[in-house]
Order: sequence, then C-alpha cells, then structure tokens
Amino acid sequence: MPKPSTVWFNLGRLLRSLTPQTWPQESYNLPHPWIGILVLTIAAWMGNVLRLSLFFGVDFLFGSIAVMLILNFYGLVPGVLAAAVAGSYTWIVWGHPWALIIFTLEGLWVGMGIKRGYRNVLLTDLAYWIPFGMMFVWLFYGKFLGFSPSGTLLIALKQALNGIFNALIASIISNLISTSFLKDRQVYQPSLQQVVFTWLAFATMTPLLVITIVIGYNNLQNLETEIWSNLTLTSITIQQNIQNWYTKNAIVMESFANQISSLVASEKTSDQQELYTFLKPLKSIIPELNRIHIINTDGHVIASIPSSSSDIEAHPDLSDQQFFEKVKQKRNVVLSELLEDEDKTYLEIALGAPVFSGNTFNGVVYGVFGLRELENILKREVLADNIKVVLFGQENRIIAKNDQDTDLSLEGGEIIARKGEEGFHWLPFLPGKSIMSRWRKSFYVERLVVSDDIPWTAQVKINASPYIDRLEELYNNGLSLLLFMLVLDLPLVAIFSYRLTQPVLDLAKISTNVPNRMKEHTTLMWPTTKIRELALLTDNFKGMVATLKSQFDAIEAAKEQLEQRVKERTAALQESEERFRQFAEHIDSVFWMTDPQKQNILYISPAYDKIWGKSSTFLDESPLDFVNSIIEADRSRVISAFAKQAHGEYDEEYQIEHPSGELRWIHDRAFPIMNDRGEVYRVVGIAEDITERKRAEQEMAEAKEAADAANRAKSNFLATMSHELRTPMNGVMGMTEVLLDTPLDAQQHQFLSIIYSSSQSLLSLINDILDFSRIEADRIDLEHKPFELRKLLEESLDPIRVDATQKNLKVSSVIAENCPLWIEGDVNRLRQVLINLLGNAVKFTTEGEITLTAETLVSHTTDQDEAWLKISVRDTGIGIPPDKINRLFQPFSQVDASTTRVYGGTGLGLVICDRLMTLMGGKIEVETEEGVGSCFYCILPLKIAEIPS
Ligand code: ADP
Repeated sequence: MPKPSTVWFNLGRLLRSLTPQTWPQESYNLPHPWIGILVLTIAAWMGNVLRLSLFFGVDFLFGSIAVMLILNFYGLVPGVLAAAVAGSYTWIVWGHPWALIIFTLEGLWVGMGIKRGYRNVLLTDLAYWIPFGMMFVWLFYGKFLGFSPSGTLLIALKQALNGIFNALIASIISNLISTSFLKDRQVYQPSLQQVVFTWLAFATMTPLLVITIVIGYNNLQNLETEIWSNLTLTSITIQQNIQNWYTKNAIVMESFANQISSLVASEKTSDQQELYTFLKPLKSIIPELNRIHIINTDGHVIASIPSSSSDIEAHPDLSDQQFFEKVKQKRNVVLSELLEDEDKTYLEIALGAPVFSGNTFNGVVYGVFGLRELENILKREVLADNIKVVLFGQENRIIAKNDQDTDLSLEGGEIIARKGEEGFHWLPFLPGKSIMSRWRKSFYVERLVVSDDIPWTAQVKINASPYIDRLEELYNNGLSLLLFMLVLDLPLVAIFSYRLTQPVLDLAKISTNVPNRMKEHTTLMWPTTKIRELALLTDNFKGMVATLKSQFDAIEAAKEQLEQRVKERTAALQESEERFRQFAEHIDSVFWMTDPQKQNILYISPAYDKIWGKSSTFLDESPLDFVNSIIEADRSRVISAFAKQAHGEYDEEYQIEHPSGELRWIHDRAFPIMNDRGEVYRVVGIAEDITERKRAEQEMAEAKEAADAANRAKSNFLATMSHELRTPMNGVMGMTEVLLDTPLDAQQHQFLSIIYSSSQSLLSLINDILDFSRIEADRIDLEHKPFELRKLLEESLDPIRVDATQKNLKVSSVIAENCPLWIEGDVNRLRQVLINLLGNAVKFTTEGEITLTAETLVSHTTDQDEAWLKISVRDTGIGIPPDKINRLFQPFSQVDASTTRVYGGTGLGLVICDRLMTLMGGKIEVETEEGVGSCFYCILPLKIAEIPS
C-alpha cells in the first residue's frame, strides 16, 4: 500500500506528463502586455455581461475564457485581477459577493497550476471545480445564502460545467492564437498532444453539453406547457360547473314561475294562499335558496318565503325597477347584481323568472340564493394545493374562492408572458435573488368570464413553486450525469492523447540535437508503439539516423581537416602580415592606402608621424589633414592634384613645414588597385622624404654653375689672348714678307721662308683658338645676309686647289638643280666650315678625288614641310676607324696621335665646324670607311633669299 504522499507525487507526475511543455510560457512577442491585459479584461467583463440563458434560471457566463487567456499569456497576477474584475459583475446582478469569490479562486488555482507547470488548463480547472469549487458553492450558497439543497446542487453543477467548458474554449483559442497569430511560432506552438487533447475534449464534451442543454430546454418547455394547460383545464372546469349550477337553478325557477302563473294573476285571496303551497317545498328542493318573493305586475310583493323577509324594500337591489323591467322584457330568467344579506355578512344573488300566462305578463318570481354552493364547487373541482381559484362578480366583488389566499396583487413584480386575453405569467422582483428563486415565487393566472348569462369572472392562479422543484430535480439529474461523464471523459481523453502522441514526442526529443548525441555516442532510446504508422515512423527515423551518422562522421573528419588547414593558413597569414608590418614600420617612407573616394584612410605607416611630426590619427578624422603641413605655395596644387587622381595619376613634389620649423621636401605618388572588373577600389601611395636629395641636387647645380663660369672666363682669356697674339704675329709676318723681297742669299732666303711658313702655321693655330674661345665664351654673332651659293662653293675650293694639284688630286663641285641660287645666312662662317672640311679632305687623301656637292632636302613633319641645305665633302682618303668617329667633334682630340705627327693640326677644326653648324641651327654628320674615304655632310635650314637686282 503506497503512502499518500507517494500517491500525490505520482498523480502530480502524471498530470505534468499529460501537460505539454510547449505551452506558451513567455509573454514577449504578444501585443504590449498592458494593451493585451486591458483588452482581455474588458472581454472577461463583457463575457459575464453577455451571459447566455441556457434554460430558465440557468445562465452561462463566459468571462473566465478571457481570464484563462490572460493567465496563459500574461501570468498569474493580471489573470487573478481580471477574474476579480469580471466576477464583480455577478455581485452587481446577483447581489452577493460569493460568485465573485469562487471565480477569483478559480483564476488563482489555474494560474498557480500554470506557474507550477500544469499547463493543461482543462484538467486543472476540472480539478478545481471537483471538489473545491463545488464545495465553495455548497458552503456559500447552501449555508450562507440559505439556498435549498437542490437549488445549491444545481448552482454547483452549473458553475462547474460552465467553468470547465470555458476552460476548453480558452484552450482552443490559445492553440489558435499560438499557431495562427503569433510571430514566434517556436515558443508558442502547441504540442501535438495539446492539440489532440483539446480537440478530442471539444469533440466529446460538446455533444454531451448540447444534449444536456436540449433536454433541459425541452423539460422547461414541457413544464410551461403543462402549467398553462393545467390552468386552462381548471378554469374551463370551473366555468362549466358554475354554468351547470346556474342552469339547474334557472330551470327550477322557470318551471316554478310557470306553475304559479295563474295564481299570480288572480286577485283572489285563496289563490294567494295557494301560492304558499307551491313556495314551501321549493326551499327544500334548493337548499341554498335563501328567500323567494313573488311580485305582481304592479311591483308589489304578493308572497314571500320566509314571510319575515316580505319587505322587499329592505333589498334595494330587488326593488330596483330596472331589474324588474329587464326580467319582464327578456321573458326569461335573469341574474341579478350581487346582493347583500340582511346582516350584510354574506353575499347573495337573485334569479328573476317572469310569470306569463300565454302572452300576458303577470309578474316576477325572485329567488335569492346564497353563494356557499359556488364555493363548494370551487373547492370540489380544484384538487392541487398550488391552484387558487376566485370567482369575481360585478365590481370585482369576490363571490367564491377555494382558499383564503385570494391575493392577486401584481405589485412588486412584472408580467413576463401573456396567453390569450386574460392569461399571464407574473414574476416578482426579488433583488439579490436568483432568477430561480424569483420563478419559484411567481404564478400563472388565467381569467375567464363564465358566460353571457353569468357576467362573473373565474380567476385561476397557479403557483410555480412545485413545478420549479420538479424542474430543478430534472436539471440536477441531467447536469449530474453530464458532469459525471465529463469526469470520466476528460482523464480518458488525456490518457488517450498522451498514449497517441507520446511516441511522436519521443521521436521529436530523440531527433532534437542528433549531431551532439552522435558526437557523445549516446545510445538513442527509441519509443515502442503498437500503432502501425508510428512504428513505421520510428523505423524510418532509425534508418535516417543511421545514414546521418555515417555522413556526420565524414563531415566531422572533413571539418577537422579543414580546421587544421585554417590553422596553418592563419599562421602563414600572420607571418606574412608580421613581415609586412615590419617592412612598413621600419622603412623611412610613408605608405598609405585609401578608398577610391579618399573618404577614409585605410592604412598609413608609422613613418608619417616621424616625417610630418604629428600623429596620423588626425587622418582618421579627415584624410586631408596632411595638407595642412604643406607650405602655402604648394598647398592648393597638391589639393587639386590629390582630389583629381582617381587612377593613380598623382605624382607630386611639395614642401611641408615640420613642427620644428624645418622645411622638408616630399615626393608623393599614388597607384590604383583594380578589382576583377577593372574598377579602382583602393588607392595606395608612397610619400618619401627627399629633402637630402634635393639638397644634393641644389649643391650640384651650384657647382656646375661655378665650373661653367670658370670655363667661360678661361675662354674669354683665351680669346683675348689669341686676339692679342695675332697683332704681333701680323707684324712678324708682314716684316718677313718685306724682308723676303729684299736681296738675300739662298741660305738667308731659305731661313726666312721657314720663319714665314712657321708664322703662317702659328697664325692659323691662333685663329683656331680664337674662334673656339669665342664660341665657348658665347662671343660669336652670326650674320644673316643673302649670298650666292655657287660663289660660296667656288671661294671654298680656291684655297685647296694648289695643294690638291700638288698631290695630283682631282677636285670637282656639283650643285643640284633643286638648289636656289641665292640663300640667306652667314657666308663667311659657312665658308670657314667648308674650307676646313675641304682642307682635311686634301690633307688625308693621297690619291683619287675630292667632291663638293650641294643639294636641297625636304623633310616632312606634321606641322609643315621644312627645307634643308645639304653640302657634302667627299674624299677618297684614309677614312676613319669606326671606334674613333665619336672623338671627331671633341675639342683637342685627334683620331690618332700619330696622325698629328704625319699630317699636323690641332684637332680644333671639326669642333669649331660642329659648334658653328649648331649655332646656325644645323649639324654635321660623317660617313666613312677606313682606307676607302670619308664624306662629311653639313645640313642646315635653307632660307631662300631674293636674287639682288
Ligand atoms: P686638325 O686641324 O688636326 O686637322 P681637325 O679637327 O680638322 O683637326 O681634324 C681632326 C682629325 O680628324 C684629324 O687629325 C684627322 O685624324 C681626322 N680627319 C679629319 N678629316 C679627315 C679626313 N677627310 N680623312 C681622314 N681623317 C680625317
């Protein structure tokens, strides 16, 4: 036998296992809590206001549906508050706070249950109502409010069923909201068991409830029908009996009147005496006949029984002339108004029967009846205690009643239903009492006019109380049965849904986090089930997990490999980055990198701080900060160049001012980095400090300038010197010439001739040096004058003719046809060049010929055609070795030192020619072959001159 605590524990575990764990627990993602709570609280209140009257006196309230939703979605405190708010409505309508307490406790119970993990609201609510809720009803309604036991039971059953059904609706709404409206399905998705349980409960509960409602409604209908038909039956019976009573008496009166008609008409005393013989037995035939009066046509009483009451005047109603006339005219029995007896204690009525003989009216017989018989009729015909019948005469005076209770005051209540003209159902106002108690105190009434002859009204009143007792019993039976079936049904549904969905839940659990389980090599506990589909599902899962496992292992291995490779790559990358960092940080130049828009500096090497003398962090703020250090003169140029460069066409030199005040030269260049599509996506650059180089360049330029100045001074000196040397030289030569013309012996003449030719050589040498020095010292001005080309060539050939003839050389000159006759230029200098070239040709040629040629060349350039004059000197001499050609135009150099010894010369001739041609805008070129001959070309711009007239 297990201990009670163990039983509770196990029960708790079962309940928990029956409650799905995925019921929404958090309230996020719902509408804002306060809005949601407010709306649902209003809904709870409205749910109670718009209550549904299922059958008379049994109302269904719906407030707790919204309360349970608040408990679900927003937690305990708001839910209990909402329960109290909605429950307070019952206080208003029912006038007592007990229902409010019961509903609030229900909210508290369910809310605590949810908090502790019992999320199957339906079962939790069932556990509240049975036994606690019903117990509270018994205590509050039965003991405190004094309801009848069966009434209390009805309320207990009704509230329990109402509450449980509301919990079911709340569960369904929760499921729908969770699956249809909330965004975070993961959190709010109801479990399979939840869904199966809820809908199964709905499917089983609803028919039971509907059947109970229909039966209850039918019971109510039948009961009301029964009440109404009882009422009608009673009133018709009463009516019939009274009619019978009247008819019987009327016949007696009528036949009596017929019997005595002749006697009434007679004036004889004996006849009047005879009347009494007829009268006397009448009283014994009709016991309730109190008196009889016989009245003649004049209205005088001619006989009465009992005789003491002969004074008809005592009964004003009977002496009423109208009634007499009515009987006379109607010629039939007429019912009188109500009369009062002599003591005015009892009411009486009279039947007046006319006395006719043939057609002659003889008088009226008045029969005055007591009304006790009518009361007897009522008492005899009405069997049930709750039926009260009253017979009213004129002016609503009570003729007869079956009970002392004749009260039909309609005050303090209302007529809630009518039937025909005179039937109605009256319900009292009983503040604070349930509709059931009001109904219990209500009554049904039917009023019926007896007949045309009898203008009385029979009023039948039925008290509802015994019927209500019966109805209550019926309801109690029905609802008890319903509750009993639910108590059986819901646990069954819970267990069934658990059994049905557990394998799926197990599968879901197993399939959760399969990779980790595989990793940990956990053995998976597969669910066992007898249901075919679920077993199949389990098998399929097993297969899938096996496949997954093998793939998972492969992936694991691949992952490990990949991780290893990533590690290696990362190390390599770090190494490479380290190298780059060292490189960038230790080199003196600044490396920088920007985006193509130059909005952001992506990298700048530490050398920046050193060269610029300020932190590169300013560049993070504004990449153009570096220009602030640039000196005023360079700054705008650099800014615009930097702004323009997008493809790396940025190469600027500028000066910056170091914070120490020192000026520094910077050479800054940029290079684009292209992406795959050939777009510039970054720009890298390098800025070098070139201050030192600039300084060296400066110094070199200055040194060169100094050297050039010294050279010019030397040339000046040489020019002046050679000029000064020429004057005495001319004197020496002039005097030597004069001396040669004087008579001399042969030896003297030979010596003097040697002096003369040496002087000539010296003068030529001095002339060369003078020319060269002048050119070097920029002291030569060229002439621009017209001259005749032919004449120039002739004059150039003249000086060499003698030597050529001596060496037996052939000399010729050719002027091409395309040459102009006259050209412009410095004819003396040009002649000097040609003489020099021709002199060399003669000098270095031993046999053959020397040719002087002039021609015009036209060169085509893009802008315009240019004409050149080309004069060439060709010889067939010794030629020049190719490796010596470059020395031809350098001052003081000869092709071969031995040449000087053989042929003489200073080596200045060609240099002077070259400088002169350059001054003229032309040049000298040479073509030569050793042992074959040489050809020197002078090429200079051709300026055609007008032929002078
Ligand atoms: P120089 O007054 O010594 O002749 P040049 O400048 O006129 O000085 O000539 C320089 C050298 O060029 C000569 O010494 C000679 O070696 C060489 N040279 C000049 N013209 C000729 C030529 N027509 N044939 C061969 N060698 C020549």
